[in-house]
Amino acid sequence: MNATRKIALLLAVVFLLPALFFSGYELSSQNKNEAIIQEAYNRQLDAILFSVNQYSDDILNRWITQVEGGLSTAPSTSGTLDNLLMINGALSAVFMIDTVDHRAVPRVYALDSSMAEEVRRAWENPAWQNTSKINQLLSYKRSGFRKVDVLNGPPIDGGNFQWLVFIIENSRQAPRIAGTLIEPEVFVEELVGPRLQEIARDQFVLSVVRLQSGTTIYNTAPRDTAKTITEAFTKEFWLFPDYALGIRPKGSSIQQVINDRTTTNLVLLLSVDLLLILAVVLVFRNVKKEVQLAQNKSDFVANVSHEIRTPLALISMFAETLEMGRVKSEEKKQEYYTIIHKEAHRLSGIVNKILNFSQAEANKKPLTIEPLHPDTEINEILKTYDFHLSNKGFVYTFTGSPDLHILADRQAFIEVIINLIDNAIKYSPDQKRIEISCHRGIGVGLIAIKDFGIGISKADQKHVFDKFYRVTSGNLAQTRGTGLGLSLVKQLMDAQRGSIALESEPGKGSTFTLSFPLESN
Ligand code: ADP
Repeated sequence: MNATRKIALLLAVVFLLPALFFSGYELSSQNKNEAIIQEAYNRQLDAILFSVNQYSDDILNRWITQVEGGLSTAPSTSGTLDNLLMINGALSAVFMIDTVDHRAVPRVYALDSSMAEEVRRAWENPAWQNTSKINQLLSYKRSGFRKVDVLNGPPIDGGNFQWLVFIIENSRQAPRIAGTLIEPEVFVEELVGPRLQEIARDQFVLSVVRLQSGTTIYNTAPRDTAKTITEAFTKEFWLFPDYALGIRPKGSSIQQVINDRTTTNLVLLLSVDLLLILAVVLVFRNVKKEVQLAQNKSDFVANVSHEIRTPLALISMFAETLEMGRVKSEEKKQEYYTIIHKEAHRLSGIVNKILNFSQAEANKKPLTIEPLHPDTEINEILKTYDFHLSNKGFVYTFTGSPDLHILADRQAFIEVIINLIDNAIKYSPDQKRIEISCHRGIGVGLIAIKDFGIGISKADQKHVFDKFYRVTSGNLAQTRGTGLGLSLVKQLMDAQRGSIALESEPGKGSTFTLSFPLESN
């Protein structure tokens, strides 16, 4: 396995696997969390509804105590009961029947005389006095318990009424059936409602629903349109079996709150995962670059050693031959001198390239950006290179642009052009043709150097400007080089606020296009 693959695997194991594992675990435990939230929420709602029921019970018990007090006094002095009926709109009537003498007329109190009459008539019916519920209450009383119970009937016209019955004893300990007639909806409206409002504040919607018809008879947020009975958490209303208490969070249902939370969690989790993947990709790319650079560096050392060794060997061989005086003919001597000179020149070329590169990289070489006429400079370079080019069998053309004036550093400009021409020569073994041209682009001056050589593959095009990078496939490796040329060109172009672009097709040739700021800018 190569170094980059190892690093990729390591990153995946250290960062991605735990993240993906954690995400998977979170997703799978999402439902469990939901159930826990629902459970906790239901408990809270349950407690609230319990307290509402308790509160209603307390009110009723207070009433019953007052009713008991009122009934135990003589009929003529029962002002307490009249008062109680007057203050509490939900309390429609109070009655008491002598259970010993069933023929006795029930004692009834009501503000409305027709209501009093109706209640009296209803309870005169012995069937109502003998229901199993009343018999049960009587037996409780005999065992010493006091219990108030809900009774269905006798029916009363003109509204939804609810009977509450209990047993009291007269002074001779004789049991009597007593009770009240209550209008639940008025009870809710007048007494329970304010309490519900107090609890609800802006967090909950509390409601009272009539079970038979499913109609909401009280709602702390009447304008809130969400369906109360289907979405809310409901509990029976202890006092009134026909009614239920409902609760839900304001504005949205519990399910919606949970759904919102789940969505937020999922989005957060996915974002964190994405960020992590992005971070790992970035780290991997950087590491890969560094590994590549280290590889290129070691290739560079090998290349340069090779580059230097060949001319050194030639120089030392020919110098030694001359020194020993073995070469007699003046012509031969001259030839050897030329070789020594040429190889020394090549050596200094390599050393200069390395020095230039390290200076440019450290930004040590001060650049003087000034107006420059590319035509003049390129003609000058070509004049110097003419011999070299034709010696190597190259034909070249130059299409100038006489009006073009750019901003560049003269030395850097020459260095860049020479490097590109050198490469065009080096990498054009068959089609020995080079086309150089200048023209004006949009806001920039363009100089193109085109060859018809071996070209560069798409994959390598991305790297040829990297430090020390050399294309190693095919017989390219045999072409001498350091891998510094294009990197130096790129650095010099950046330093001159210019840029370089490459277009190339393997086997067809390459075009390097330099772009410089215009003088007029
Ligand atoms: P080198 O010293 O190897 O020439 P460079 O930095 O100048 O280093 O170039 C990097 C690589 O880009 C070279 O090894 C070569 O493979 C490729 N290259 C550069 N110029 C050309 C060109 N004109 N045609 C084909 N390949 C080129």
